[in-house]
Amino acid sequence: MATIDGLPPLREVIAAHGLSARKSLGQNFLLDLNLTARIARAAGDLTGADVLEVGPGPGGLTRGLLAEGARRVVAVEKDTRCMAPLAEIAAAYPGRLEVLNADALELDWAAHLTPPVKIAANLPYNVGTELLVRWLTPPDWPPLWQSLTLMFQREVADRIVAGPGSKTYGRLAVLAQWRATAKIVLTLPPEAFTPPPKIHSAVVHLEALPEPRFEADPKVLNRVVAAGFNQRRKMLRAALKGVAPDIEDRIVAAGLKPTDRAEQVPVEGFCALAREVAKG
Ligand code: SAM
Repeated sequence: MATIDGLPPLREVIAAHGLSARKSLGQNFLLDLNLTARIARAAGDLTGADVLEVGPGPGGLTRGLLAEGARRVVAVEKDTRCMAPLAEIAAAYPGRLEVLNADALELDWAAHLTPPVKIAANLPYNVGTELLVRWLTPPDWPPLWQSLTLMFQREVADRIVAGPGSKTYGRLAVLAQWRATAKIVLTLPPEAFTPPPKIHSAVVHLEALPEPRFEADPKVLNRVVAAGFNQRRKMLRAALKGVAPDIEDRIVAAGLKPTDRAEQVPVEGFCALAREVAKG
């Protein structure tokens, strides 16, 4: 069957290269190129942008990103077995695909990219959340990336876009909504993947704001929010006990109540609290 880019269908690619999915690498592949093109379009206008793709696997989303006009794609994949199929894509798009056989958690990715930069990925969820937190907490803002378009388990996606008062509101929501806009742009059933996972998935699109909504030191904010939600049933005065001395006074100075629980505190409140904690 002909494909949009003249390359073989992904089922053939997987069979030809013996790419049996490995659970240890969180491999659930997207084989429908119409779907990967839709995800690529969710990343916005790619023309003139470098795209960092983490975990390209056999290259379904990579092909979508290139077909949608990305200036260049830098694809970081841990699994050496994927290098051959990715090299075939690179040959079909001369000068536009750089493949790095590396662990995304170890790589200095910025060194390989020229702004404007967009990031797109369909990753195992634990790697995805770890990278998301790192991408949201660099010391300086705006970051190198303009947008993140990331596949997560549906439940993780809900946690990123949740508002205060919701059961899923937590550290990911505060960090994401502090410095970016975040919305779910696509939900996918298990059958969209090979092999199908047990749960639904969703694509979250985040756009970096020109500056954070409220002033705060990212490290301090991350620490305060992690402590607050680590014991989300507890009141702030108990949950934050180890974070700084005189914590009740700081909570009050931040305009919050020591009896509040983290899940009621809006992003603005956490930022005010981080500023009080940073006073030393
Ligand atoms: N993007 C492909 C797709 O949509 O079909 C593959 C998605 S699969 C869910 C996740 C991919 O991430 C796999 O190819 C896996 O080998 C790769 N991966 C897992 N951990 C990684 C890491 N730490 N760094 C880079 N790639 C990783």
